This record gives sequence, structure tokens and C-alpha cells, in this order.
Amino acid sequence: MMNNHFADIILPLAYKGQFTYALPDEFAGSVRRGSRVLVQLGNRKLYSGIVSRIHNTPPPTRNIRPLLSVLDPEPVVNEIQLKLWSWMAEYYMCSVGEVMKAALPSDLCLEGLAEAPVTEKYKPREETFVRLKEPFSEERLNEILDSLARAPVQLRILTVYLDLAGYIPGGSMQPVRKNLLLREAGAAYGSIDGLLKKGILDLFEMETGRLVDYDRPLEALKELTSEQLRALKELQKIFSDKNTALLHGVTSSGKTELYIHLIDEQLKKGKQVLYLLPEIALTTQIIQRLQKHFGPLTGVYHSRFSNAERVEIWNRVGGLYNARDYKLVIGARSALFLPFRNLGLVIVDEEHDGSYKQQDPAPRYNARDSALVLASLHGARSVLGSASPSIESYYNTLSGKYGLVELKQRYGSVRLPQIILADSREAYRKKLMVSHFTPQLLGAIDNALANNEQVILFQNRRGFSPYLECPECGWILKCVQCAVSLTYHKGIASMVCHYCGYSSSIPSHCGNCGSPGLQTRGFGTEKIEDEIKIVFPSARVARMDQDTTRGKNSFERILRSLEEGQTDILIGTQMISKGLDIENLTVVGILNADNLLNFPDFRAHERSFQLMEQVSGRAGRRTKTGKVVIQTSDPGNRIIRLVLNHDYRNMFKIQMEERKAFNYPPFCRMIRISVKHRDRALLNAFSDFLARDLKAVFGKRILGPEYPPVSQVQLWYIKNILVKLEREQPVSRAKMQISRAIERLMKEKGASSLRISVDVDPY
Ligand code: ADP
Ligand code: ZN
Ligand code: ZN
Repeated sequence: MMNNHFADIILPLAYKGQFTYALPDEFAGSVRRGSRVLVQLGNRKLYSGIVSRIHNTPPPTRNIRPLLSVLDPEPVVNEIQLKLWSWMAEYYMCSVGEVMKAALPSDLCLEGLAEAPVTEKYKPREETFVRLKEPFSEERLNEILDSLARAPVQLRILTVYLDLAGYIPGGSMQPVRKNLLLREAGAAYGSIDGLLKKGILDLFEMETGRLVDYDRPLEALKELTSEQLRALKELQKIFSDKNTALLHGVTSSGKTELYIHLIDEQLKKGKQVLYLLPEIALTTQIIQRLQKHFGPLTGVYHSRFSNAERVEIWNRVGGLYNARDYKLVIGARSALFLPFRNLGLVIVDEEHDGSYKQQDPAPRYNARDSALVLASLHGARSVLGSASPSIESYYNTLSGKYGLVELKQRYGSVRLPQIILADSREAYRKKLMVSHFTPQLLGAIDNALANNEQVILFQNRRGFSPYLECPECGWILKCVQCAVSLTYHKGIASMVCHYCGYSSSIPSHCGNCGSPGLQTRGFGTEKIEDEIKIVFPSARVARMDQDTTRGKNSFERILRSLEEGQTDILIGTQMISKGLDIENLTVVGILNADNLLNFPDFRAHERSFQLMEQVSGRAGRRTKTGKVVIQTSDPGNRIIRLVLNHDYRNMFKIQMEERKAFNYPPFCRMIRISVKHRDRALLNAFSDFLARDLKAVFGKRILGPEYPPVSQVQLWYIKNILVKLEREQPVSRAKMQISRAIERLMKEKGASSLRISVDVDPY
């Protein structure tokens, strides 16, 4: 038998073929599946990549390059991760390299040029520590202390050192950070030098992590109510023959407490747990709740960590380099890529949330669905939790694919909030509106403020107003690169594109007819903040949206102020719709429900219901019954009627009928192909070509090409082609045919200036 002479390497590129390299004998012992290695591609470029296969099959090309080096002593990626990556690449129709790019912390992805040596981006943090120069005897140490009688600063440093190091005669001592020692001793930077020169103390460097461990005392788990206990038992029963359960529990029913009990069970078995949340905005409160019970076993992973911190989290989940292990990981969608070794449970909280889906770039994956695959690769169980599950997941419980557990009561028998419909059109007509507020909402806020209770106001638009309009001719200022209006931001005195970030100054005159006096139309969170301050001048008002939470800790600050009762009224976008568990919050206002309902998407009604239920769920979670005021110009709207009664079942029923009638998921599988070109005519020609080609294979399953609601972004015109496939048919063949059709298109003259992206299960 020959030795293994070749290695296939995953490189961070969209190319779907293999990259095969020769495996020099010197590396044969140290390279395994999952190893990170350095290779050259083409004439100049160097990349780090991950070994996916080691084999003896010579590739067809003659000039096989050798691997240049092996970057780590152990593989950084494990077998299960490699399997997950290939599943994702195949399912979401992208390259494994694109999945790798999303999965690995960017500090583990090296790139460079052949001429210059490539260096690691991640550097372990080292700090200077202090220790005794020698293991002095107690007697000798006393002599030393005596000898320092004339050097009071040195004496102080030494005694403080002994104290911090936990000195007891004959016992072992802790390493002490130099900085800490000087601070505690109140000594200047150079004042330790004397002790070093005298050979009493010694400095040394030691690697320390960047991550802060929870070090407060742990709390015992809360005792579950009988209702919650019943749900826990049902979950456990489901897990004896199914892998996945849907936990449908009304807001504040104790879903999180149930998760905590499930986590505890797994950690006691020595298993790891992944807890996914749709947005980092949500994590703060949940993290605190979990850390109270699981302390330093709890790791957190999301995009706000620095690149170096992410490498350290990676290592602690993977148990690489003998770091202190994380057993429980809370994170946004990318946390599913961490190197779990023995997952026992995956929790997907707010499973219906659209932000589990990554839109751009590839892989355009749904973290919920991918996490279920990850769980099954580990032989782990999964819980999907929601107060208003996605139609797809609920459907899966009816078909028996998932188990279903329900929690219908709020903890402490607090009632679900009372929902009040406020007809904004009528209020406008009767001139009862104050700014954008109906009498019902004003009354509720008044009441809450009088009782020292808190209020949140929800508006799913940031900025001051979504557009400026000329009252004379109707002209609207649009983005120069996208087919959308620019949003007026008052605070920064700019017009901003929410698609590409372009911004410009505020026009004083109409760009069409030249008349002055452009008017703001519609309203966003910034305007609501302005006006609520005028209507309630003594209230303490805060705003939470993308614009006010850019700083690293800004979100926490706003949240803390709310928790501590420093904020009376919080205005926000969907950021405030989830997770918030504030005792004294009793009133929720939804300023414009019509916005949500009129969105052109087959999920708009489902989403509106979920969002309204979820925002409502923030009100009255402890003792007092909450009040929710929904402002709408269409109070008869069917979805709003269902929210009124918290009637999930009927929402589901109606949505299922509609989706069946118009053939949408869960009755079909959808794949969306986006074709983009800077030239409108060429885009039309190429997208027609592709659609014709696809129709020859798929017939009526092809819809489009059509312009999406925003038909141009950053100068690229966009057309979408939708493929609707039968649920029962295997999709892999269809995906192959789609890929072939795209390849055929790309061979057309001029097609190289197209951009094509494929989105499986689009959201
Ligand atoms: P959900 O996740 O369903 O919205 P939570 O788990 O956040 O519900 O529970 C709502 C509130 O009630 C939380 O403050 C929680 O700590 C409290 N709670 C729920 N169950 C219990 C329990 N069994 N014992 C004590 N407090 C509980
Ligand atoms: Zn005009
Ligand atoms: Zn733009």
C-alpha cells in the first residue's frame, strides 16, 4: 500500500470543485481531516484552508503543489463540523469554502502573497506576573521583610504581594498580575525595580485569556410550577422517540425556566448545550439569567465580540489547547458553527424569527434548520420554542415530525394583556389625534405614568420619517444607487439610504419643481421620540433602534436604565419586541400596525401576528395585567382580530388555507434565483434567458423573472426567478438542474458581468 499522498483542501472561495495538494511525507503524521494548513493557489496567493480528505487518488492535473505548512498541532475543525459544512453547501447551493468562511473566526482564516511570510492574526494575550525569586523559607522571608524597614515603598509592595498571592508558610502561591500589585500597593510603575534588583521578586510572562469568567455565587434552579413540570415531562417523553419538540408557550409562561431545567439535565450528564437566539439584542437578559445558574460554564458568541475573543471562545467550546471548556453556549445564528464535541441539546428560542435566516452573503442558511441538522449529527435533541410558532414548524407537529408541548398560562397566573384596538383613521377624522397618538394610547400612557409604571412604544421604522415629499408636485428624494426613498434622520441632519448606507444633506428645495418647504411623510422611531417628549414633558424617554445601539455597550445601557426604572417610555423597533422581561412594564403601544400587514410578502400576515403577539408579551409579566394599544386604520383586519384574542390556532388555519390556495411553503419548497446587472436591458435579456431555460426543465414551477419591491440596490438592477418544487419530490436533482442552467447562462457572451445568487427556502 502506498502512503496517503494527497489532501483535498477547503479554501474560502465560491468555486465548487476540489482543491487537491500533495501531502509531503514530513507532514503525513501531523495532517488530519480538519487540520488547518497553508497552501498556494495560482501564481501568488496564499491561503489557509481546512483539510477535508486525505487520499491516494492522483488528481487529473499534472502540476500538483505541495502543502506549505501545518498551522496548528491539532485539527481546529472536527468531523461533525465537516459533515455539517458539506450538508449546508449542498442544501443551500453554495461552496463548502463559503460555509467555512461563515463558520471559522476570521482570525483563523489567513491570506497572503507568496513573497511575504503569512503570519497568524490571532495572538494570545500575555501579561506580566510577579512571583518570589526563590521559594524562601519563612525565616528568610522575615529577614527580608526586616531588611526593608528603610524602604517603605518596597516593604509595602512585598507585603501586598504576599497578601494577594495568598501566602501561608509552606503553602502554594497564586501568580499575581504586576499591574494589580502596583495598583493595590499604590506604588508607581518603576517602584518594583528595587525588589527585582535585590533578587526578592521576579517577573514572568504568562498567557491569559480575553474572556471574563462569571465569578459570583451560583443560584439554585427555580422550582417549576405543576403546569411547567407537566410540560417538562412531556418533553422528556417526546424525546424518547423523536428528536425535535416544539414548545408552544404563551409569552411569560416560563419557557426560559423550562430551558434552564433541560440545560441543567444535560450539563449533569457531561453534555454540551447550544442555545440559539435570533438577535444579539436579546442576549443580555437571557445571558444573565443563565449565568446565575451555570456560571463560568456559560459561553456567549456573537458578532460583537472582537476577532481575538472569537478565537478564544472557539477554543473553549472545542476544548482545544486545554482551555477551560464552555458547556453551554448562547449565541446568535453563527454560534452553531462552534466546535461542539458532544452536544446533548439544542434550543432554538423564538424559532419563528426571520433573522435566523442569513440573507447575504452565501451561505444563505436558516440557523434554525441547520441547528436541527447539527443536533442530529450529534445524536442530540432539539427544542424549538415560541409563543407564536412558524407555520412550518407548527405544521411539522401536525404531521408528527415534531412533538408538541404547550404552555397556555402565564407564570403566576398573570393574565395575558388586554388588547385595545385604536382606529387611527377615525381619530384623524374627528381630530382627536395628538401627533401620532390616538386618545386610547394617550390615556393608557397617562395612566401608566401616574402609577409609576413603564411603557414601550413600537414602530418598525427607524429614522425621523421614511421620506420627504414636495407638497406641490409629489417629488420624493431617492437614493442615487437604489430604487428607494432616503429616510430623513433629524439627529444627524441627513437623508440616509437604509439599503446601502448612502447619505446626503437635507434638500431645501424640490429637486423637480424647485419649490421650498418639503414635508416629512410617515414617521419613524426618532420622530415618535421627539413628539412623545412634547406630549409628556416630564416623562423620561429613551429610544432603542439600530441608530442608538451602535456603541459596544449602548444596548446594555438602555436596557439597564429601563430595568432600574430610570426610563418611563422606551421607543423602539423590533429590537424591543422580544425577550424583554421588565417587571414594571404595563403598557405597550403599536403605533402603526398597517405598516406590518401591508408588506408585500406571503409571510407578511404570519409575521405581523407574531410580532404583535411578541411585543404584547412584554406587557404585564408579573403582577398587573398589561394593556396593549394597537393603532390601525383598518380595525376590521382579520389578522388584527386574531391578535385581539391571542388566537394562534385560527391564524394558523387561515394561513394554511391561503398557502395551499396559492402554493406556498409548507406546501412547496421554494428556491429564489436573483439575477443582478448594472444595465437594465441586459438584465432583462439574461434573466429571460435563464427563465426560459429553467421553464424547459421545470415548466410551470418557474415564476418570473420579476422585479422585487426594491428593484435596484447599489446600482445593481435585480430580477428574481422563483422555483416552486413539490414537497414530496427529492430536491437534490432539481438543485443540480438549477445549477446547470446557471452554468449555461454564464457561458453566454457578456454574462460574466452578471451577479447571480441562489437562495434556498428564502425569507
Ligand atoms: P417565557 O420564556 O415563556 O417568556 P419566562 O421563563 O421568561 O417566560 O418567565 C416569565 C417570568 O416568570 C420570568 O421572570 C421568570 O423568572 C418567572 N418564572 C417563570 N416560571 C417560574 C417559576 N417556576 N418560579 C419562579 N419564577 C418563574
Ligand atoms: Zn416639487
Ligand atoms: Zn441606497
